[in-house]
Amino acid sequence: MAFKPPKPSIHGETPDSLGLKLAEAGHPKYRAGQIFEWIYPRRAESAEIMTNLPANLRVWLAENYDFTSTEVLGHKTSQDVTQKLLQRLRDGSLIETVIIRAPMEGVGQDKSRRTICISTQVGCAYGCKFCASGLDGWKRDLSIGEIVSQLVQVCRIEDQADPARAAEGLASFDNIVVMGMGEPLANYDNLMSALKIVNAQWGFGFGARRVTISTSGVVPKILKLAEETLGFRLAISLHGATNEVREKIMPINKKYPLEELIPAAKTFAREHGRMLTLEFILIEEINDSLEQAQKLAVIARELHAHVNLIPYNTVEGLDWRRPSITRQDRFVKELRALGVTATLRREKGHDINAACGQLRLQKEKSLGADSTPVAEV
Ligand code: SAH
Ligand code: SF4
Repeated sequence: MAFKPPKPSIHGETPDSLGLKLAEAGHPKYRAGQIFEWIYPRRAESAEIMTNLPANLRVWLAENYDFTSTEVLGHKTSQDVTQKLLQRLRDGSLIETVIIRAPMEGVGQDKSRRTICISTQVGCAYGCKFCASGLDGWKRDLSIGEIVSQLVQVCRIEDQADPARAAEGLASFDNIVVMGMGEPLANYDNLMSALKIVNAQWGFGFGARRVTISTSGVVPKILKLAEETLGFRLAISLHGATNEVREKIMPINKKYPLEELIPAAKTFAREHGRMLTLEFILIEEINDSLEQAQKLAVIARELHAHVNLIPYNTVEGLDWRRPSITRQDRFVKELRALGVTATLRREKGHDINAACGQLRLQKEKSLGADSTPVAEV
C-alpha cells in the first residue's frame, strides 16, 4: 500500500494561518475565529459538530485537517497520583504524556492540582547515560500540532471525569512541565509556537509562568529563551556539580561545560526573576557525595535556584543504582545546611521521570510500535 502522508494537525494552526488557508480555498477568513471557538474550549474531535459552519466548509476541514494527531493507546495509573498516557502518532511512533496529581488539603483527588508532562521529540539525540529516552537515539521532532494535541487529549480525558469544569471550556490542568521525551530546546521553534497557542486567548489562555521547560543545557537556546517576551520557567538538568562528574553521564557537557552553562542560566534568571530550578538525579557513587552537594550548593546560591533532587529511577539494561535513603537524606541535609532550598521528590519525582521514555520503551519491547489499542499498559 502506498504511504499516505498524514494530514496536518488542526492544533498546529493559528487564526491567522488558518484564515489564509481558508481564503485560498475560497472560504471567508472570519470563519477561522468561529472554528477556534470549537477547537480549544470545546475540544472538537471532528468538523462535523461545528454546526454553525456551512456544510461545504465542514467537509473542507475534515478533508484537510487531522483533529487527533496523537491518539491515546492506553493509560496506566501508578500507586501514587500519576497517570501515564501512551500516545501514538500517525507514523506509528510512540510518545508519553503524564498527568501528575497533587492532592490539595480538604479537596477530593478530582479537584487536585494537575501537572501535565509533555514530550517534544520521538527519542533524543543527547544520549544521557541514565535516560531511557536517549537509548535508541533521536527519531524526529514533534510538530507544533503534535505537541499541542497531547494537551488536548488530556483535556478530553479529564473532561469525562468532570463535565461541569469541561463546560467552562478552560484548560483541564494547572501546570505544564516540558520534561517528557526529547530535548525541548532542540525543537525550539515548534515548542515556542506550540506554547504560544497554549497561551493565546483563543487557545487555552494558559499563563506562561505555569509552564516549566526542562533542558539538559543547550546554552545558545537558553540565551534565546531568556529573550522571549513570554516568561516561561526553566529547569536545568544539572546532575553533576563539576565538569568531571557531569561529563561522565551527560555527553552535552563536552559541548557546553559548566563555565558556559552557569553564566547562561544566570542571564536567564536575571531576565525572568527567580524562576530557575536545578534538577539533580542522585546516582549511587556517581554524584551523591557530600563534596558534590557542597559544590552544587555554590552553584545554586549563585543562581538563586531551587534544587530538585530526584533519586535515580531504574532503567532496564542500565547498571546505575539509586542511593540508599540514608545517603539521599545526607545529601539534601547538606544542601539545606548550606542555605539552599531543596526538595527530594521521592514519589512523584520518580513518576515524573518515568515519563522520560520508559513507558514507551516497555511497550516497544513487548508489542512493537504498531500495536493495537489497549486499555492498560
Ligand atoms: N531533555 C530534557 C527534558 C526531558 S528529561 C532534560 O534532560 O532536561 C526530564 C528529566 O528526567 C530530566 O531532568 C532528566 O535528567 C530526568 N531523567 C531522565 N532519566 C531519568 C532516570 N532514569 N531517573 C531519574 N530521572 C531521569
Ligand atoms: Fe535527552 Fe533529557 Fe534524556 Fe538527556 S535526559 S537523553 S537530554 S531526554
